[in-house]
Amino acid sequence: MKQFDQAAALLKLTASQTAMIKQPRKCVEVTLPIRMDDGTIKTFTGYRVQHNIARGPAKGGVRYHPNVSLDEVKALSFWMTFKCAVANIPMGGGKGGIIVDPQKLSHGELERLSRRYFSELEEMFGPDRDVPAPDVNTNPQIMAWFMDTYSMHKREHLPAVVTGKPLEIGGSKGRVLATSLGLLFATRRAVAANGEKMAGLTVAVQGFGNVGGNAAVLLHQDGCKILAISDQYGAFHNPDGINVPEAMKYAEKNNGLKGFESTKLAKKMADPMELLELKVEILAPCALELQLTKANANKVKARYIAEGANGPCDSDADEIFNKKGIFVIPDILCNAGGVVVSYFEWVQNRMGYYWSVDRINRELEDVMNIAFDAVYETQLQYNCPMRVAAFAVAIKRVSVASEMRGLYA
Ligand code: NAD
Repeated sequence: MKQFDQAAALLKLTASQTAMIKQPRKCVEVTLPIRMDDGTIKTFTGYRVQHNIARGPAKGGVRYHPNVSLDEVKALSFWMTFKCAVANIPMGGGKGGIIVDPQKLSHGELERLSRRYFSELEEMFGPDRDVPAPDVNTNPQIMAWFMDTYSMHKREHLPAVVTGKPLEIGGSKGRVLATSLGLLFATRRAVAANGEKMAGLTVAVQGFGNVGGNAAVLLHQDGCKILAISDQYGAFHNPDGINVPEAMKYAEKNNGLKGFESTKLAKKMADPMELLELKVEILAPCALELQLTKANANKVKARYIAEGANGPCDSDADEIFNKKGIFVIPDILCNAGGVVVSYFEWVQNRMGYYWSVDRINRELEDVMNIAFDAVYETQLQYNCPMRVAAFAVAIKRVSVASEMRGLYA
């Protein structure tokens, strides 16, 4: 909200304009009774929030986690509105969740819970209403169940109701690498804006999962030297550069980087948080939120921060980075590649024609470059931080769309 308010002030939005776009438009809570394998019935709570639909159907993942709450889902849906707007894809923001630890459910229980969630909220979803996707603890299989449940109810084949589906039933090529490729394109643009080249720049990447692991590989392919990587098992450092393809093979084989120091390709760092303070040119936090705060932001030596994760820097850290002149590529821009390829999946489903991975990546690059340039120009125009500029670009687009549509009353 602080990020939003700063950008809204810059744009001189009126109180009415702000009111139109700040709050979620619809929040629904459902109770989901599920027959467990032992014959008992258990109830779960599910949510779907549509934050804004002025620019198109709501878009945003469904999270399965014991800590899901309506407040969290609302906040995440707010972020989605502005992430879609900054990328300029014709979609609004939404998010959903179920309070559940999916590890405690059998395959059958998980399927029944997923189908019940989708059918309870059937009126909210639809290719032209609200299009969910995977998030924490949800995956292509669950998206397939969502799509099947909806299509069965409607007696039609409707793959565009959900994205992140398996390739066999209308998923898109390029989805796995999309977020990391988007990060690469945005980072390249930032580096070029400063008149520099990627080759030879040093990098530290926090998180070695879908986003961080692939980002490390892509940055390495671009000629960067990856000095440190980390995951939940620790951080690993090599001042001469890590052999990232080998690290990837290791992580795939061992389900993470645990014991990676045994390969002698890098040394384990005593404190994994020190990775964030290494002398590198690019720092890519790609793991968790709130990793950079006033406790460590002053010690950051990187010149670029590429936010692969959502919300890795808090507002104190942001202020410090601005003072230090660090080039922050903010999350809503930097990690938008995932939602952009989700949008491409929706487009392909509606066309009934599927693109090659080359076309996906080419179109993704165009979208990311245009988005980056809009934010960068806004930053120059208002002489403000990149994050505020990203929100300003996005808020303006949402606000103009809302005003043009007017109030139906
Ligand atoms: P993931 O589960 O595949 O990977 C997360 C990684 O972070 C794992 O390697 C894990 O070991 C590591 N990790 C966990 N705790 C850590 C710690 N304390 N220190 C260092 N590493 C730690 O998840 P992901 O899909 O890569 O998502 C990572 C972040 O990117 C999240 O914030 C997510 O919301 C955001 N994001 C993901 C996508 C996407 O397409 N996957 C899109 C946009 C944003």
